[in-house]
Amino acid sequence: MTRTVIRTCPLCEATCGLRIELDDTDQVVAVRGDTDDVFSAGYLCPKGATLGELEADPDRLATPRVRRDGQLVEAGWEEAFEEVATRLHAIQAEHGPDAVAIYLGNPNVHTLAGQLYIRPLAKALRTTNIYSASSVDQLPKHVSCGYLFGDPLAIPVPDLDRTDLLVVLGGNPRVSNGSLMTAPDLPGRLTALRRRGGRLVVVDPARTRTAERADVHLAVRPGTDALLLFAVVHTLAEEGLADVGDHLRDHVRGVDEVVALAAPFAPERVAAACGIDAAAIRALARELAEAERAVVYGRLGTSTVAFGTTTSWLVDVVNVLTGNLDRPGGAMFPLPAHHRAPRRPFRHARRHSRVRGLPEAIGEFPVATLYDEIVTPGEGQVRALITVAGNPVLSTPDGARLDAAIAGLDLVVAVDPYVTATSRHADVVLPPPRILQRSHYDLAFSALAIRNVANHSPAAVALDDQQPDEWEILLTLAAIALGQSPPIEVDAADAFVLHQALEAVVADPSARLATRDVDELRAHLDGRRGPERLLDLLLRAGPYGDGFGSHEDGLSLARLEAHPHGIDLGPLQPRVPQLLTTASGSIELAPEPLVSDVARLERHLDDRVGTDAPSTDAPSTDPPSTDAPSTDRPNTNGLVLIGRRHLRTNNSWSHNVAGLAKGQQLCTLRIHPDDAAERGLADGTAAVVRSAAGEITVPVEVTDALRRGVVSLPHGFGHDLDGVELTVARSAGGANSNVLADRHLVDPISGNAVLNGLDVEVVPA
Ligand code: SF4
Repeated sequence: MTRTVIRTCPLCEATCGLRIELDDTDQVVAVRGDTDDVFSAGYLCPKGATLGELEADPDRLATPRVRRDGQLVEAGWEEAFEEVATRLHAIQAEHGPDAVAIYLGNPNVHTLAGQLYIRPLAKALRTTNIYSASSVDQLPKHVSCGYLFGDPLAIPVPDLDRTDLLVVLGGNPRVSNGSLMTAPDLPGRLTALRRRGGRLVVVDPARTRTAERADVHLAVRPGTDALLLFAVVHTLAEEGLADVGDHLRDHVRGVDEVVALAAPFAPERVAAACGIDAAAIRALARELAEAERAVVYGRLGTSTVAFGTTTSWLVDVVNVLTGNLDRPGGAMFPLPAHHRAPRRPFRHARRHSRVRGLPEAIGEFPVATLYDEIVTPGEGQVRALITVAGNPVLSTPDGARLDAAIAGLDLVVAVDPYVTATSRHADVVLPPPRILQRSHYDLAFSALAIRNVANHSPAAVALDDQQPDEWEILLTLAAIALGQSPPIEVDAADAFVLHQALEAVVADPSARLATRDVDELRAHLDGRRGPERLLDLLLRAGPYGDGFGSHEDGLSLARLEAHPHGIDLGPLQPRVPQLLTTASGSIELAPEPLVSDVARLERHLDDRVGTDAPSTDAPSTDPPSTDAPSTDRPNTNGLVLIGRRHLRTNNSWSHNVAGLAKGQQLCTLRIHPDDAAERGLADGTAAVVRSAAGEITVPVEVTDALRRGVVSLPHGFGHDLDGVELTVARSAGGANSNVLADRHLVDPISGNAVLNGLDVEVVPA
């Protein structure tokens, strides 16, 4: 006997609907795309297709682990929580709250519990040492949107299905399946764009799969997108093409200022640095201005660079100046179904990190300085680390040094289903339930989706005996962080979380529950608990909600449950000026911190024409770290390293699925044939890659898909370390590219790590 369940795939940002067949022991026997899904209409990629293998992974932990006599041994939940409480309380009492750091991995935005219960945990810890994968990823976009629109979460996305021209910088959506742009079946949507006569332009040092299918591929030098975008702005202004459009005319400030800032960046001046002909840059600007509906979209390659915030800002500046922000076919703001607390005007750099003085952004410090905070003595030194779905050893800069630093901490607690490169250092590992044992709703990605959509998946499989749900683990840790000792009354803690959510909703004049009575609303929510209860509240208070009766046909969780294939809430609609939360109430196109940083970009252009060295907040004085020991400082030999995505992986999390890699070596160093020949490297041989931070050894893949002088590596590999319990991932080989990433290289505005555009030397191994 089999049964079929409908679920949203949580494995990437595309949020595809799945039809999953389960046998009578709740094992997955088949996964197909859900053809009735209102958004994905049956699309499925190889990662989604192997969900069953992931669910059945024998390396997945079924019980907590606690370190005893140096070994991680199986333990009961009560024993594990008691161990956390005893040791955490001692550290908090002796060293204060900042002695405990928390690191949040990227999977937290893919779970409902992660979206709703991380905040209570972080608040309960009362630490300023909050870190996440955002600062090795999209943090510059949050910061630039914070300054432009007043809200770091107000990120405009391409109105992909209605545009005539899509310009992609530093992204490979055919392979990533979209990021900061939730759109199932990206390959199909890009094909549809060209079929309806639209054009695709890709700006990328590599001829990616997206670039292969583009009308134009501009093989830009890594890290120079900001120069190119300023040259586009320069051209728009010089040729009289800049026009914000009637719809924005009264809602934008700083147009003249940003145009003046672009004056030094004529296409003819930046062309050599960008490696793009001035004529091609001017043609791009004209095409953007002349297209009926156009949009510029920048992704990872534009944010993990020395000018990450500047580049993220300029993407939206170009969209504004071509009249394409907030109108159909341009860059638009989704309106998700859940209620979001009203935002105060964006505040940034409210505090600075203890050791390197890096700025806080969206409530956290850059993870590029976590190592410094662990190893540098003094008040506030990090002595304990809680990771939630995170693997910073493989995912963040200076991986080898961070590995050693985490190993020396007084306490490491990992909420993680695996013993990974990071959680192998844990004193306690707390495994969350399997994917199908959890309910699912995409709070984060519905706010980045190219259509307004709501889709809920109830848990499909019962929890194992004794297994707490993910939200119960997080709330128990929160209660422990507040000084309580196990056993924790999770429902009492959850009642407190609900009360705070109710207070926030009734205090928001824009919510459909504004001014209602908290006790009355709480009574309406009886019968549910945990994330479902919170989600029901947020949906009913949200812009499409039923307001508990005030809007008869509105949304509620019950209504979503009756629509397992999701509810389509329609195409994106213009949202300016209502969306803006800047102090002025306008789009601030020339915010002071970004304006001030333009001088650095110009110096970079003057000093380094034709080169790509990123800036550094301090020269690295550490000895190089290696996975193949060497005591020599590297001599760069003119190559620049960039990252790479693969359809069959997702950061460090999907490497233990044998059916995904299919025995292929995915972690290779791609290099242009001429660069390879110059260095005596052949396809399939091994090369040593050295940077200022460290060195790794990887197999060589010779390809003309990269421009000369550029090499690429995927990240998230390097699992074969003592103590890691990932059988497939360990045997698959690969090296940790973050060993090469110097933690001192950051975008100074956001503190985001520089992972693209690293100077490296490559020699035969
Ligand atoms: S594209 Fe993403 S959401 Fe869709 S099936 Fe693949 S991994 Fe899942």
